[in-house]
Amino acid sequence: VDELTVLLAKRGKVLRKNGHVTPDLVPVDELVAAIEAEELEPWYQPKIDIASKRVVGVEALVRWPSKEKGMVFPDAFIPVAEENGLIDALTFLVIKKAADMQAHWQKQGLSLKIAINVSMDSLYDLTFPERVVSYLEKHRVDPTGFQLEVTESRLMDDLVGPLDILLRLRLKRFSLSIDDFGTGHSNLTQLRDLPFDEIKLDRSFVQGAAEDERAKSLLESSVDIAKKLDMEIVSEGVETLEDWQRVEMLGCDQVQGYFVSRPLPGDDIPAWVEGWPKLCETLFP
Ligand code: C2E
Ligand code: MG
Ligand code: MG
Ligand code: MG
Repeated sequence: VDELTVLLAKRGKVLRKNGHVTPDLVPVDELVAAIEAEELEPWYQPKIDIASKRVVGVEALVRWPSKEKGMVFPDAFIPVAEENGLIDALTFLVIKKAADMQAHWQKQGLSLKIAINVSMDSLYDLTFPERVVSYLEKHRVDPTGFQLEVTESRLMDDLVGPLDILLRLRLKRFSLSIDDFGTGHSNLTQLRDLPFDEIKLDRSFVQGAAEDERAKSLLESSVDIAKKLDMEIVSEGVETLEDWQRVEMLGCDQVQGYFVSRPLPGDDIPAWVEGWPKLCETLFP
């Protein structure tokens, strides 16, 4: 790994998890087969409210447990899906499995909001809001139990089409979140005009602020602006108690990260939620 790669990685651009520079992409035909066979599975990572330490929901993060390859992570197939017109099918598969899982948890007395990652591509498709809603209605799922996350960096490139779709989704009562905030270049007017209820500060942004004063000021003013716009502020990538305390000091509302839990299979979520108060005692001595 050369110096430039490390530099870019610090800005969240190139280096992905485990130090792999770019993942080997899954061949399209294999991805098609995996989607058709419904082999893709969302895992779920808890989101915690900082003030009350309550579990407020989970984010669905798709994985492909492949018989040949082992566990394949989204970096290896989301770009393939986006470039080959498969992302819509993938999104609906994730929504389907997440809605089923939510109903399954509900039977165990656990009611959890699920955040779904939506590709920018869907925000150019005028039929998307209607299709999501009718899909959920058919399965008797309430949109207020879902949140949609859209990545900032691509969002801000072009606003006209996406704004219309976002407004439609908002009217359908989905809550909307800007993902990976800090990696793109949204300006204040854009933030004000887009119908988001939440921003998720990107991990690289949050962790950069630990080391770098300028990054810290930038982070502080972003939080400030988001608060003034009445948005919920979630911090991604909280890995340590120090991270937690730092984002708490900054005024973040919620936390997500390995410090609390890695993404888990849906079947493990009820036991995890039950064990969370006990886990808290060890995390916050
Ligand atoms: P994201 O939406 O920003 O999700 C957060 C990523 O950070 C996840 O990686 C999560 O496992 C990882 N993460 C969570 N906490 C920590 C932490 O404390 N430290 C570190 N180092 N990492 C942490 P994952 O699951 O590999 O997903 C990567 C990206 O793939 C997601 O980033 C999202 O943009 C995309 N993605 C995942 N699932 C879907 C999906 O169903 N549809 C679409 N369109 N994109 C998806
Ligand atoms: Mg996300
Ligand atoms: Mg994110
Ligand atoms: Mg991120």
